[in-house]
Amino acid sequence: MNTVYGSYFDTVNSICADCGTDTLEACMQLCDSYERMLSKTIPGSDVWKINHCKGGPVPISPDTRNILECAFRFYQLTEGAFNIALKPLIDVWDIKHRHSLPSEEEITEAMRYLEIDGWELQGDCLIVPNEKAGIDLGGIAKGYIADRIADFLKSEGAASALLNFGGNIVCFGGKPDGSPWKIGLQTPFAPSQAEYFAVTELNEGTVVTSGIYERFFHADGRTYHHIIDPRTGWPSRSGILSASVIGKDSMTADALSTSLLLLGWEKGLKLAEENGYYALCITENGEVHRSEKWNINIIQ
Ligand code: AMP
Ligand code: MG
Repeated sequence: MNTVYGSYFDTVNSICADCGTDTLEACMQLCDSYERMLSKTIPGSDVWKINHCKGGPVPISPDTRNILECAFRFYQLTEGAFNIALKPLIDVWDIKHRHSLPSEEEITEAMRYLEIDGWELQGDCLIVPNEKAGIDLGGIAKGYIADRIADFLKSEGAASALLNFGGNIVCFGGKPDGSPWKIGLQTPFAPSQAEYFAVTELNEGTVVTSGIYERFFHADGRTYHHIIDPRTGWPSRSGILSASVIGKDSMTADALSTSLLLLGWEKGLKLAEENGYYALCITENGEVHRSEKWNINIIQ
């Protein structure tokens, strides 16, 4: 087995696979080209063009289209809670740099531009409804990219691999010794990212975790985090600290885990199961709620 590390999509990525280092280097090059296609901040990316076109049609790549189709489906499935057209509001909250609350006026103004209805896929183009509208694929793109890199590894003949894209795990083939991969679920707000509260075994598939501990700041004695509820304009208050989803495809699991943090555990678990996935949520008061069929070992 060989391992490669990279720094893409605002996180650390690692890929461990039974293939040559040249194939792993090619994986990192693929990550680089996906970042240049989907980043909000790299000029010329599809997302950058969408967010700077001031309305109208924007030509997009087939990959971007695949992600948008799934994202629009999740908008419907979550009745508007999962909304990639949230960029105006995400810019107002700017969780990475902010240490104080935005004003109600800023939030109300941004909320005028979150309507998904005007967005439309037309042939090779995305129609952007107005000049203030914008998208953010942070809740779904990593899963899609991890799926594509796993497909690439399989096409290059790898029989076994484990990819970790900052909370999005994709694996196939089990470990070379024939045992399944062991995947730990991170303890929310633990001092070390290597502290796990549960371990699950998986030969092939994905485990994706979203948590409010990933990006946040404190103000007025509360925690304000990076998953914003478009229905209120504020970071979601579903009572969930972290949500993990296990299943087949990482893009779907990625959209689901973010959706769970918005919907709360009851609706969230139901949504995951209806789509053929299992989920587990930890709540603020320390409860663990999970799909009964997920055979997972809870350590504490
Ligand atoms: P994840 O870590 O996959 O849960 O994704 C979190 C990211 O999703 C945030 O950093 C934002 O880029 C994006 N995001 C935040 N709120 C929402 C929302 N309501 N719907 C869709 N994406 C969101
Ligand atoms: Mg997600």
